[in-house]
Amino acid sequence: MEQDHYNVIIIGSGPAGLFAAMRLERLGIDRIAVIDRKPYPAGGLLNDGKLNFDHRIGIDLDELQLDPSTANRYIEEVKRVFVGFPECRQVTMVENNIKIDSLRGMARENDVEFIAPEQWHWGTDNGKAMVDYLRDRVKATAFLLGVDVASIEEDGKGGYRCFCTEEQKKVVCSAKAVLAAPGRSGAYWFRDAADGLGLRHTFGPIDVGIRFELQKKFYDTVTDTVYDPKFIFNTARHHDRVRTFCTNPGGRVRQENYLNFKLVNGDTLSGRKTPNTNFALINTVALTKPLSDTTEYGRMIAMQFFLLGGGSPIVQRVGDFREGRRSSRTTFNSRTRHFDALKATCKAVPGDITLGMPARIIDNLWESLKKLDKIVPGILHPSSLMYAPEIKFFDTRFPTDANLETNVKGIFVAGDGAGKSRGIVGAAISGIIAAQGIAEKFSLS
Ligand SMILES: Cc1cc2nc3c(=O)[nH]c(=O)nc-3n(C[C@H](O)[C@H](O)[C@H](O)COP(=O)(O)OP(=O)(O)OC[C@H]3O[C@@H](n4cnc5c(N)ncnc54)[C@H](O)[C@@H]3O)c2cc1C
Repeated sequence: MEQDHYNVIIIGSGPAGLFAAMRLERLGIDRIAVIDRKPYPAGGLLNDGKLNFDHRIGIDLDELQLDPSTANRYIEEVKRVFVGFPECRQVTMVENNIKIDSLRGMARENDVEFIAPEQWHWGTDNGKAMVDYLRDRVKATAFLLGVDVASIEEDGKGGYRCFCTEEQKKVVCSAKAVLAAPGRSGAYWFRDAADGLGLRHTFGPIDVGIRFELQKKFYDTVTDTVYDPKFIFNTARHHDRVRTFCTNPGGRVRQENYLNFKLVNGDTLSGRKTPNTNFALINTVALTKPLSDTTEYGRMIAMQFFLLGGGSPIVQRVGDFREGRRSSRTTFNSRTRHFDALKATCKAVPGDITLGMPARIIDNLWESLKKLDKIVPGILHPSSLMYAPEIKFFDTRFPTDANLETNVKGIFVAGDGAGKSRGIVGAAISGIIAAQGIAEKFSLS
């Protein structure tokens, strides 16, 4: 069994891990290793690449223990790095934009909050070039790729050992500090690993909902002004929070594969556009007694869809939903005298989303869509599509100090998988904060 020694091991090469490595190098820390089970360092940086430079989006100020002005300083810092990549383009200008004021006014009239952040975008097809650009900034860091961390244990000398597998081979790496930035895909693994180490954790809310796809022309009035508009609804019936999220003008709906289920998501290419736009509409769900484990709840919903869809997500036309009937393959892309066909960009099974989604969530989503249709008339065209399930698991939270060090000294956390962010910019910021905490620890020891 091989054994390597480092000062810092970072688990995960997404934005949290890469920005942490960048900051550690800048602070003069050497012998840094980034470990990722994937053969290419990237995490979610290969997905779409919409950047929201606004502390109200994707950044939980309480969780990161930041005030808005400090958060803005970090945002500026992260922005300087990302926008240095030539293919990253500004897609929403907020300064003196009277169209934004009028959209905000229309939303307010319908009791809806509207947020228009400054936004930039590079597109899924530029993802690899973006990752190469970032990786070029961390030249002194060792990248152990295709290496899966199975468990973390104390080494008895104040540091930690990560037990890993690389193909069939077992590898052990040790370090004085470990930064866990495993993203959503590694969140459940880390939850188990954290239990073994004695890390405290709590359950946060999850977001459950649908991916809505419509003809691009119906939403252009909004997306021509704000690329990824954020509408936030407080529902009248259940007093729950629903929001639009991750809008992709000219984009495609995608499936994400997990062990026992599939979820839907969306992205856009920078060059090739579709005639459709899609966005997520998600309902925040928090649970208390007797079940506080929101992960289990979300997984049960996802597995129910997996069962109903024969292993695929389900898609239902708005026209069918209104009539209370399932969608079927024969009528799906039909063109009638009254409306154009909308060609679905994702292979999902036509069915009935109300069979798999709890009634309260369906009520909330439909109430929100009806309000949105008042602000952007036409979106509830019968041909528009609702794909389910779209679920955002950011649920396991690890209490930390302001340096993102957990109750187990020397174990730091960052990024989406530890509940510290919800998106690329927030993940990058949390990586920087954790790196500063680690460097500070080394300067004191
Ligand atoms: C389709 C899609 C589109 C998206 N579009 C956007 C967008 O436009 N804008 C935006 O802000 N966000 C978007 N996101 C979300 C964004 O990708 C995440 O918020 C972000 O990547 C989180 O960063 P992270 O560093 O916390 O984790 P990640 O980027 O997920 O990186 C975690 C890494 O850890 C590795 N890992 C996990 N466990 C282990 C282990 N045990 N051993 C070794 N390696 C491990 C994983 O392989 C992964 O590479 C999108 C996500 C998806 C799925």
